[in-house]
Amino acid sequence: MTASTAPLAGTLVLRDDPGFEEAAVGRVFNHRRPERRPAAVLFAESHDDLVAGVRLAAERGWQVVSRSGGHSWAAWGLRDEALLIDVHKLKTITYDEASGIVSVDAGVKGGEELAPFLTERGRFFPGGHCPTVGLAGFLLQGGQGWCARGFGWAAEYLEAVDVVTADGRLVRADADHHSDLYWAARGAGPGFFGVVARFHLRTRPAPQALSHSVMIFDIDEYRDVMTWLNTTHATVDPEVEIVAVSQRPPAELHLDVPADRHILVVSALAFKDTTDDARTALATIDNCPFADRALFSVQCAPTTLAEQYASQYANNPEGHRYTVDNAWLDADPATTVDRLEKAFTTWATPESFSLWFSMAPLRELPDMAFSMQSEVYCALYTISADAGSDPATRRWTDDRMAELEPITAGQYLGDSDLTNRQVRFMSDEHYARLREIRAAYDPDGLFVDYLTHDPSTLNQNHWQTEGIQR
Ligand SMILES: Cc1cc2nc3c(=O)[nH]c(=O)nc-3n(C[C@H](O)[C@H](O)[C@H](O)COP(=O)(O)OP(=O)(O)OC[C@H]3O[C@@H](n4cnc5c(N)ncnc54)[C@H](O)[C@@H]3O)c2cc1C
Repeated sequence: MTASTAPLAGTLVLRDDPGFEEAAVGRVFNHRRPERRPAAVLFAESHDDLVAGVRLAAERGWQVVSRSGGHSWAAWGLRDEALLIDVHKLKTITYDEASGIVSVDAGVKGGEELAPFLTERGRFFPGGHCPTVGLAGFLLQGGQGWCARGFGWAAEYLEAVDVVTADGRLVRADADHHSDLYWAARGAGPGFFGVVARFHLRTRPAPQALSHSVMIFDIDEYRDVMTWLNTTHATVDPEVEIVAVSQRPPAELHLDVPADRHILVVSALAFKDTTDDARTALATIDNCPFADRALFSVQCAPTTLAEQYASQYANNPEGHRYTVDNAWLDADPATTVDRLEKAFTTWATPESFSLWFSMAPLRELPDMAFSMQSEVYCALYTISADAGSDPATRRWTDDRMAELEPITAGQYLGDSDLTNRQVRFMSDEHYARLREIRAAYDPDGLFVDYLTHDPSTLNQNHWQTEGIQR
């Protein structure tokens, strides 16, 4: 423990302290971990600790980086010579019935902690799909939660945010106060220049008849099924999440498919209040012209959020090494299916999976930093327990992303790694505004900026700009 400008309730672990390595990397979800190490880690116990941490860093000449759930694929919290403020112990959640607003400390996990709290109160928030993702990292980058195509980005639910700024003050930012900071908090992601203490979020009524339809096909059906899906998805009721995944067969289904071969799973999850409404909403998917070729199917079966989280958890095992990348695709269905073919019909390791996620028809976004999306989101998640697979998973991922580049509009920060590939993540206008706001709030660069191999080419698609490196 080391003295600070104000007494710390939390623990400060310095480079030479016992337990430093565990403090720095022990909470990083991705076991493919970088060499970068902070100068110190502060495990904050209170909002006052966040203020004290920011002031301490300014005194010591360290930069500041924050960590919540530890789920950023590229381990953004690990920055050389910075003070890493880890907020995972900040867990207070309060709900105001009159306004429907839930106030959530920055250390809360969306699925594991906020979702059950709200379910008990008959409320719902479109948090991330994996239960252990931290709300802070998720919300700051936009937040592609449950049924984002209909319910919108999670950041759109942010009414106000409490932030410790570079001058060491805890301020509330909303539409009327520190409105620039509020604008930036909805999309800047790891380029945000403050430590969030608390989010104030609108909630929705919990759906009363959550229902899903699932069809599983042999991967050889890829072209027919995905052409139909890409042609049809925009017509489906907006309160239905539509996903297609190339993955290994779930053991519990005992499908007649070798365990090392992938299957194509098309699933549609209806957030409705009655089974009749859910059935109507799912009808387009249930009427798939290739349904008779499915190896397995259920139509409009009741399900629960807890069940959905469990299956996400199974697909994203802990203790593994992940190489991940993503793209916003902008092309007609036939071109999309052509370009995505290898990403779906080949795989780097059996446990890896490739995701197609509908955002169609695109909703108009409010004025916030988040500003890059298209009708089809694609993300590749390669997974391995073995470090020896790293070069092959990297190569497979890079090759697949290169095939997608001609139809790539940009990417989502949440599944990105800008140290590997420079891709646009915001509109040019929004990015320019973000730089100005950042310069005003953090003129001395106390907070770390985006983690990238080349800051001068940030927010550009490398293949569209001559002379910039991938
Ligand atoms: C298994 C898995 C499933 C996922 N599923 C989804 C999904 O469904 N939808 C989706 O949108 N994304 C998803 N993601 C991506 C995930 O949302 C992002 O990686 C997100 O950044 C993780 O947030 P975190 O707080 O857990 O990560 P961390 O690594 O703790 O934080 C990431 C970054 O957020 C910022 N940050 C964190 N806390 C604070 C704070 N208190 N103040 C200021 N800045 C802070 C920092 O810049 C930090 O580097 C998934 C990731 C994984 C590993």
